[in-house]
Order: sequence, then structure tokens, then C-alpha cells
Amino acid sequence: MYINKASTIVIKIGSSNIVDGRGNLKEKWLNSLVKDLKTFVNKKKNIVIVSSGAIALGLSYLKINKKKIKLEMSQAVASIGQIHLTNVYRKIFEKNKIKIGQILISLDDTEQRRRAINAKRTFENLFKLKAIPIVNENDTTATSEIKYGDNDRLAARVAQIISADVLINFSDVDGLYDPAERKKIIKEVNNIDEKTYSLVENKKNNFGSGGMKTKLQAAKICISSGCYMAIANGNFLNPIKELLRKNKCTWFIPRVSTLHAREKWIVSSIGSNGKILIDDGAVKALKNGKSLLPAGIIEIQGNFAKGDNVLIVDKEGVDCARGLTSFSSEEIRKIKGLKTDQIEKVLGYASKSEIIHRDDMVKL
Ligand code: GLU
Repeated sequence: MYINKASTIVIKIGSSNIVDGRGNLKEKWLNSLVKDLKTFVNKKKNIVIVSSGAIALGLSYLKINKKKIKLEMSQAVASIGQIHLTNVYRKIFEKNKIKIGQILISLDDTEQRRRAINAKRTFENLFKLKAIPIVNENDTTATSEIKYGDNDRLAARVAQIISADVLINFSDVDGLYDPAERKKIIKEVNNIDEKTYSLVENKKNNFGSGGMKTKLQAAKICISSGCYMAIANGNFLNPIKELLRKNKCTWFIPRVSTLHAREKWIVSSIGSNGKILIDDGAVKALKNGKSLLPAGIIEIQGNFAKGDNVLIVDKEGVDCARGLTSFSSEEIRKIKGLKTDQIEKVLGYASKSEIIHRDDMVKL
């Protein structure tokens, strides 16, 4: 079992695991989870918990119905609920003599390289202090454009940044169902493509914001990051013990990767919607390990800044590469299709000649 061999494990807890249908905290369940985690701590494994539940707990405390609140209000609700959530964790972990720390993450904390490295250091230092980081999205300031919105992808990005070996993604589903036999769970998945997405209906539960689609997106990040991910039902007492005993879940098996940490980070970016469309000549050049030059660019989609992580696609819209752009979308719109020696004249200032340097690019 992948969990036994892992030295760093991320456990994502969904709102439906920690809060019952009425919005009350499932304290007995949480006690049993922490008991399970104690065995990991005794084995000196590094543990990270990514926990949802701030909004759900805030709502029940304030006696507000979820359907009635808008994003701005849910930010305030999360601000109230997060205190309750952390308090509950502190109380239960303290009882078990385990230290915890809180990390509230915004999208930019993982999507900007320097901030991602800073976050990684904080995780590592918490491990040195023998404390378990309890992570959630910083829902209080995130607006819809700059928000993860679901803890599935957030947990996967955290797992990738800290080079975790396993991510256990607990929610209220048993795993990915086999379309041929509706009641059978697919044991292992090695690759995620359009067909995999077509297997799932994106049903959501009452409190969480993720669904099966965001779980698959999370698995995709894990597959390219060298991290095993399980989708499992966490709604049992002692959920980890139960998972180890029955192995009832879907495991996503990572690809053997030769990519370095920075390249893994580039390839699984989720922060940017920017796209660069390139011609056949440029596709060939990228395949041969060359940088992306303005001459091969046909079109730009979306707005992005210098340094942002953008997707490079061919004429048919097929993904070719991901990379960190040296020019903003506004600049590229002016110089696309031009020869390198024309850039300075058009922009009016000297700049690099590669739109995306090959060292900042990962082919897909
Ligand atoms: N961050 C949200 C919360 O704590 C939950 C996001 C999710 O359900 O994935 O309430």
C-alpha cells in the first residue's frame, strides 16, 4: 500500500466529512481521525491536513442557509467559521499531544514561484517543529477570479510543492465508478484524459465546493508530480485505518517523471487562463527543444502579465507546452508574427528576444 511507504502525506478533508447534514461538527469522527494520525506521527511521517469546513461551520454558527449567501458574504462567514475550525483542531490535537500550525493559502501563494518556495519552507519548518500544518484557502479575501474555490486542487498543489508521496482525498464518494458496472470502483487510474472526465457527473454535496471534476483535476496534478492520490470516502470512524484495511478507493498512479521540481510546478499551474496559439513551424521548433519566438505566434487569448504561467497550443487547440512568459499579453499582441530584430522598434524599448525561453517551458 502506497500509504505505508510514504514519508510525507497530505490528507484532504471535505466539508461533508467534518460537518454533518445539519451543519454540526462531527467531533467523534474528528477524534477518530486524529487517533489514526497519531500512528503516522509515531512513525515519524510528515503530515499535512487540508481541511474544508470554514464556510459550513460559519453558516451553522450564524444559522444561515448556504443557498441564500453571495460570495462577499461567504467571505465574512468563512472568517467566522475558520476560527471555529482551527479551535476544534487545536483542542483535539492537543488532547493527543500533537502540535499544529495554521496555513491559509491564497491562489498567488502557490502560483507565484517565489511565494510557492516560501510556502514550501514554512511547511518544512513546521515539520522540523514536529507540528502538523492545517491548511485551508484564505476564503476571506479571495474573489472569484483569484480563488481556488475548491480544496481538491489546492491540496494537490500543496502536495506537489512539498513533494508529498501521497495525497488522500477524503470526501463522501467511494472513488471513481466504473461506467460498465455502476457499482464497481475503478481500483487504479494511470492517465486522465477527456474520457476520464466523461465518466463523472459533477454532483456536489451540500457544503463542499468541489466535485468529481475538481478531484480529477487534482489527480492530474498529482500524476505529473510524482504523488499517489486516492479518492476515498472519509465518512467512517477511523477513516485512515479503514482505508488501510479495505483499500476501498480509487488510486491515481503518478507517471515516472524526469522533471525537476520547478518544471513540475510549471506544468501543473492552475492560476492562469492565458493561451498562446502557435503555427506548425513553432510547434516543430518547440519539439526540437527551441524557445518560443514571436514569429511563430498566431494569436493570444486572455490577458496576462510578464512572468505569468501560460499555455501554448497549436492551431487545433491541442496543448503543446506550458511556460513562464517574458512578455505581457499586451506586448505579444503587438509583436506576434514579427521577426526577432523587429521587436525593439515596435515596442520602443530593448527586451528579450524569446517570448518564452526554453528553460522556462515544459512540453506537454
Ligand atoms: N475553503 C472552503 C471552506 O473551508 C471549502 C472549499 C471546498 O469545499 O473544497 O469552507
